[in-house]
Amino acid sequence: MKGIIEHDLSVLAGKQKLLHWQVRVDGLVQGVGFRPFVYRLAHELGVRGWVGSDAAGVVMDIYGSEAVLRELCGRLSREGPPLAQIASVTVAAEDWVSGDDVPKAFRIAESQSQGQSFMAVGADVATCSECLMELFDPANRRYRYPFTNCTNCGPRYTILLGLPYDRASTTMARFVMCEECRAEYEDPSNRRFHAQPNACPRCGPRLEWKNPQGEVESFGEEALMRAVRELRAGRVVAIKGLGGYHLAVDATLETAVMRLRERKMRDAKPFAVMVKDLATAEKICKVDEQARGALLSKGRPIVIMPKSDDVTLARSVAPGLDEVGIFLPYTPLHHLLMHEVDGPIVLTSGNLTDEPIVYKDDDAVERLGPLVDGILSNDREIYTRCDDSVMRATGGAGQLLRRSRGYAPEAVFLKRALARNVLALGGELKVTVSVGKDNRIYSSQHIGDLDHLAIEESYLMAINHMVELCGARPQVVVRDMHPQYRSSLIAERFGLEVVEVQHHHAHVASCLVEHGLEGPVVGLAMDGMGYGIDGGIWGGEVLVADLNGFKRKGHLMEVPFVSGDKASREPWRMALLWLYLLGGSDLVQEVGWQLDGRWQRMLSVLEQVVGQGHGGGLMRVTSSCGRLFDAVSALLGICANSTYEGQAAMLLEAAATREASRECKAYEIDVRDETGEVVIDPRPLLAQVLQDWRRGVVVGVIAASFHESLGQGLAKAAATVAEREGIDKVALTGGVFQNRRLSMIVRHALRREGLDVLEHRMVPANDGGLSVGQAAIGGTLR
Ligand code: ZN
Ligand code: ZN
Ligand code: FE
Repeated sequence: MKGIIEHDLSVLAGKQKLLHWQVRVDGLVQGVGFRPFVYRLAHELGVRGWVGSDAAGVVMDIYGSEAVLRELCGRLSREGPPLAQIASVTVAAEDWVSGDDVPKAFRIAESQSQGQSFMAVGADVATCSECLMELFDPANRRYRYPFTNCTNCGPRYTILLGLPYDRASTTMARFVMCEECRAEYEDPSNRRFHAQPNACPRCGPRLEWKNPQGEVESFGEEALMRAVRELRAGRVVAIKGLGGYHLAVDATLETAVMRLRERKMRDAKPFAVMVKDLATAEKICKVDEQARGALLSKGRPIVIMPKSDDVTLARSVAPGLDEVGIFLPYTPLHHLLMHEVDGPIVLTSGNLTDEPIVYKDDDAVERLGPLVDGILSNDREIYTRCDDSVMRATGGAGQLLRRSRGYAPEAVFLKRALARNVLALGGELKVTVSVGKDNRIYSSQHIGDLDHLAIEESYLMAINHMVELCGARPQVVVRDMHPQYRSSLIAERFGLEVVEVQHHHAHVASCLVEHGLEGPVVGLAMDGMGYGIDGGIWGGEVLVADLNGFKRKGHLMEVPFVSGDKASREPWRMALLWLYLLGGSDLVQEVGWQLDGRWQRMLSVLEQVVGQGHGGGLMRVTSSCGRLFDAVSALLGICANSTYEGQAAMLLEAAATREASRECKAYEIDVRDETGEVVIDPRPLLAQVLQDWRRGVVVGVIAASFHESLGQGLAKAAATVAEREGIDKVALTGGVFQNRRLSMIVRHALRREGLDVLEHRMVPANDGGLSVGQAAIGGTLR
């Protein structure tokens, strides 16, 4: 514990006197049952005084002997409530007081609501074990009540309208607590003391079953059992959860899952599956220790894990992939539902393609009604929509691919306070917004892809909500350098200073921040596309960066970017480009027809623009690593046209992993110096991919060799820069590092060079983490 003043024993002269400490507790200590915990502890130890909260955290005035006060402070961190995160305990002042000045008891002081700030708001938390026991205890008054919660669990962020965080400013305001609930709420020794969403069957929200036209047909237990029957019969049901509506279907019935795919118009993108308990998860998947921890954590993310040999799940749950995303029940409703259905169900965001998750009841009927056979709803309003979070085991620690429900809007703590309050707007895809203040950055839930108009409204709401909850006006707005991103245009609306941060610089900063570092570091930023300071389309960068700036020290070889926006949806175009660079028109003519029917038109573009240089000075170049994965995936016949972002690369990784037991080759990759920059040239590598493919080598083996060789090349480039610059840390960032196989290869190679490897965990490596890095940079710069 830092900051506790060492005590001078000579002061003990005044025998009858008691020591008085003013203590400050910093961290996530509001709205998590911290004050009642202190109250109980003080009573146990016979300490007198009071505990209260202010804008920055919890404050205590405590009176007792030095030994007891020390014991109390020590136990704060060790025994605190499950949701509390203590950053520091500091004794701000101390003196000796005589008996008369000592309070007679210990009490909880009213909080200063006007001073309350964002720290009061935690993320939504999965049902705790005590509530779960009550849920299935026939003698308990909350037996089978789907909205049971307490101070240690339940909704927070999704029901919060504004500050201060009390019942009146949540969507629970319209439910008047019954006498019993009120008594729990007011009793400091009760688990439900100041649990804002506290409710019971008598006074709280209740379930409703609606037909697809929105007419309510039954309530409560009857509604629940109706949903169960429909699911068992293979029908599609919309279910209102914490942060929005899900679409659910029996995950073991091929016909049912296909029906959902057809209705949702979703071809191949994998669905998440909810299972009853850990044992079921372990039957379906290979669950290692780390994945087990993630499955059971209070955030309850969807955890992507390798499938086992079990064939319970329908094939169309995750077509072509050897992994599947599984999560456990996180609300009492889900527990009841899974208990009754007694088999895995697909539980996917209730939305139409590219639209945000539906969270309003009217919208659910209008948009989801046509897709479903019924709706299991309830009368507790969701104020902020929030998708499920997604985590993937990467061999080291788990990595959040989507940080949303269960995590947002919790803070990332910085090593040092920001110079300015900052609002960071993220990029374009998988966008989030962050606000930064003092030594904290609060990041919003996952919002979606801003290139779809329907997402923009959700985005603007999130900005307003986050700024309001932060309780401090931003002094600076940060945006991506890309001039055409919607977020870049929106940045100008605030009438504040706007700072442009380069895309990959923000990626590297987001990784630094989550490790409590400020740099400098060598950043390997590998992703799809980001706007470079030279106007090029970057995406395979070796940067030397800290929070104040960066230098580009290397990159993947730049190639003409001829297909524009089509490139990411149509990987075959990048494959043709690389073929053209390797062997000109002849090679494209030989191979092109096997990739896509439009190959000839693409060839003539390549001949004109690349061959004859007709693109001239206007021709943009790209160093994108994501597009290189696309090219190889298409070339190997794995994915020539993709239906969701990252599909080609995911399938390529899956193919490589499938052949993991076979020996892969190390292809040659050229890492060379060009006028002070390290350039990673994948042409020799691609030539060997092509050669092996022609020889009929198993595609998965080629994919594995590609991963191995590219990983070695990237590591070599980073190590070269690290040595030159005298830096011993390398950050792996950007969406490409969601690739578990590649991460592992690069990590091991860098460690062999004696370098420290920083990887993403709680802040996504993809563009979902951008706003965190932007906030750190924008708030640091003066
Ligand atoms: Zn609970
Ligand atoms: Zn009640
Ligand atoms: Fe990116």
